[in-house]
Amino acid sequence: MHEFALAQAVVDAALQTADQAGIRRIVRITVRIGELQQIERDCFAFALNEVLPTTEPRLVDVAIAIETEAARFRCRPCAHAFALPDVQPLEGDSEAEAIHFIPELAHAFIRCPRCQSPDFEVLAGRGVILQSLEGDQ
Ligand SMILES: [Zn+2]
Repeated sequence: MHEFALAQAVVDAALQTADQAGIRRIVRITVRIGELQQIERDCFAFALNEVLPTTEPRLVDVAIAIETEAARFRCRPCAHAFALPDVQPLEGDSEAEAIHFIPELAHAFIRCPRCQSPDFEVLAGRGVILQSLEGDQ
């Protein structure tokens, strides 16, 4: 279960961060998910709640917020920076939709909106990040 492994990693990172900052009770965790990450947001939220250790006193009253990081690309030949809404789907909406779930296919479906090159780098929108953590010392 992909979502559960990621959720566990987020909880582990939160507890480690709390240890380093001397936080005894974590109030709020903000997790940021890249738009291109292969993850179902609702499933991930469910997994996070499932993996939260109920016996862990630092996490008794924690609130979890999930944010989405929009994907950003930069064309290598012309240096144009663009986002998913800027991209014209090549072969219909269903193909564009697939990009969200299969980021490895992004290069097959995305072209630079300025010069039509398929040669671009992904600047943002990948991965799962523990964005911030608030708590009481
Ligand atoms: Zn370009």
